[in-house]
Amino acid sequence: MLIAGTRPEAVKLAPLILDLRARGQRPLLVATGQHRDMFDEALAGFGLQADHDLGVMAASPDEVVGRLVQALADVVRETRPAWVVVQGDTSSTLAGALAARYAGARLAHVEAGLRTGTHDPHPEEMHRKLVAQMAQLHFAPTAAAAAALAAEGVQGGVHITGNSGIDALLLMQARLADDAALARTATGPLVGIPRGRPWLLATIHRRENQGAVLDGMVSALAELAGEAEIIVPVHPSPAVSGPVRAALAGCAHVHLLPPLPYASFVALMLQSALVLTDSGGVQEEAPAIGLPCLVLRDVTERREGLDSGNALLVGRDPVAIVAAARAILAGGAVRAAMAAPAMPYGSGGAAQVINSLLLRRAGASSAQRLESWSQSVAHRPRSRALQR
Ligand code: UDP
Repeated sequence: MLIAGTRPEAVKLAPLILDLRARGQRPLLVATGQHRDMFDEALAGFGLQADHDLGVMAASPDEVVGRLVQALADVVRETRPAWVVVQGDTSSTLAGALAARYAGARLAHVEAGLRTGTHDPHPEEMHRKLVAQMAQLHFAPTAAAAAALAAEGVQGGVHITGNSGIDALLLMQARLADDAALARTATGPLVGIPRGRPWLLATIHRRENQGAVLDGMVSALAELAGEAEIIVPVHPSPAVSGPVRAALAGCAHVHLLPPLPYASFVALMLQSALVLTDSGGVQEEAPAIGLPCLVLRDVTERREGLDSGNALLVGRDPVAIVAAARAILAGGAVRAAMAAPAMPYGSGGAAQVINSLLLRRAGASSAQRLESWSQSVAHRPRSRALQR
């Protein structure tokens, strides 16, 4: 059973689900509902949908966790899966982990061991540290992540697998190259963006970058519109979309887009000269396709991209952001070094490694239990089936 609720979880668990199905398994994906639309859209990009949706949408992490734990624990008790798999560090991740352990199930954590070593970002650093204390299997994407787990005394069950987000990226990149119809649909939202100047992609959504910090970042983007086409898929959170639209809507050379389907976002990354981002997933994807990346944060748990020279931790000061972006847009050695593709987060195949480890330790009877439970809830109304 895979438990997930946000866009990055959908992207990073999709390769596991596809691989499990290819092996004749019947993985059960339980959606928490945390990011309903973006989650469903990201899954749809891989031809997938959740098997069950708890529909818990809430404003704050404590409310998400509070409302989910009991509902998820009920599902786990009823189905007794061989493994409960959670990914990353969201409120859904923590709730899924707590539910699995309260219900006595075995827990596996995909993308384990990412640490800033500070209390930030909050609550994500707290979530992933807590999950590390609960899981029996820890799939660390890199050697540094495995070392961070060892340093916290996590004994046994740690495997370095690569990040399954890179599997997703390579899969989508190949599909875009092979399937002209998909490529046409995917690039639909980008039609009309002029090609004469470099494309600068920006994604900003983190809690710590809201308020006055966001205003500063938005002013940096407005300034950079003097030399690049600025493309912003705007996060739907009102704390982000309100200020971004108020400051940038209607500005020349600024293109505000809705959150993009994954295929479109990959197509956009492939065509951009530079990305400015506070996203975790984008920090991992950019090096793999040679897209120079400026990280709009003071600390990052993804240092591998900095070490490979593809990303720069530029911070949140608009003057520093503009200066760093200009240095890259100017081309030359700075840009060339950052645009050399590298695979610090794995080179694909993480899902196969993870699934092999899971299946090696899975009991035979759990598959039958899951199947009969799936059939029984299929005949009950969608949300009431799982909600107390
Ligand atoms: N992404 C997407 N559409 C967008 C923006 C991002 O599909 O408009 C993808 C992106 O490629 C990456 C994931 O969503 O795989 C990152 O999600 P997000 O930035 O929301 O979360 P984080 O990675 O910071 O947890």
